[in-house]
Amino acid sequence: MRIFEPHIHCYSRTTDDYERMALAGIEGVCEPAFWLGQPRTHVATFKDYFDTLLGWERHRAAQFGIRHYCTMGLNPKEANDDRLNDDVLALVREYVHKDGVIAVGEIGYDDITPTEERILQEQIQIAIEARKPILIHTPHRDKTGGVKRTLDVVRESGIEPSMVLVDHNTEMTIPMVKETGYYAGFSIYPNTKMTPERMVEIFRRFGTDRMIINSAADWGISDPLLVPKTVQVMRKAGMDEDEIEKVVWGNPIGFFAQSGQIAFSDFDRDRSIDRTRLHAGNSVLRGQKP
Ligand SMILES: [Zn+2]
Repeated sequence: MRIFEPHIHCYSRTTDDYERMALAGIEGVCEPAFWLGQPRTHVATFKDYFDTLLGWERHRAAQFGIRHYCTMGLNPKEANDDRLNDDVLALVREYVHKDGVIAVGEIGYDDITPTEERILQEQIQIAIEARKPILIHTPHRDKTGGVKRTLDVVRESGIEPSMVLVDHNTEMTIPMVKETGYYAGFSIYPNTKMTPERMVEIFRRFGTDRMIINSAADWGISDPLLVPKTVQVMRKAGMDEDEIEKVVWGNPIGFFAQSGQIAFSDFDRDRSIDRTRLHAGNSVLRGQKP
């Protein structure tokens, strides 16, 4: 089974994770720009972070045979910081055009403040102008209210429905999102929120069209193997191999391909691994022999 992991924050993960992901069949990842736990206080630290996603992290993933893509955006949490939000938006406007950037995201609501709403609206416009899809984060508190409000803002923006992926859905929100024609993402977590078993039940009720699953693994308690683990549960439940591959390969790559920065054929190219390769003079070997 070929797997594309559409939402993982590799920046916070180790080389062991990359190795295990590659062994489990993950051939490509999308790393959305997000917050780092520690609030940033300067726009320049965003710039360095964005450059890391485009440079070092892509290089690091390649050393394990994994193709790395990313999204650019100001996350909802830090959108509230008036010392830097407008300057970061200017950066997003510039970085969205770089090679390997497959969407604007993750954007959306956290605490559902007026500032978050303004930044969300502006970033949707950036995406429309740049002809990129959007990756929408939905809030973990007041999930249903937050999703409702998000869908209103997205609809009013006039963006093409096929260009929208609404993430972190649950049984409560999927009926609403399904109706819109947007793509729906589900983050599978080790303990809470969404489990592989509940996910299978959602596929049974709502089908697999425009459905995408991810681990959303980051610096918190999370598991970068939850997409391949969910594949196993889908198989145990008797789901068709074609249906499974649609969810973990066809749907996510098909969605992000609308950016013009990723294609199924990317994965047919040479996938040899050469760990002596350098990025800005640095390698993953740290002085070891390959
Ligand atoms: Zn995330």
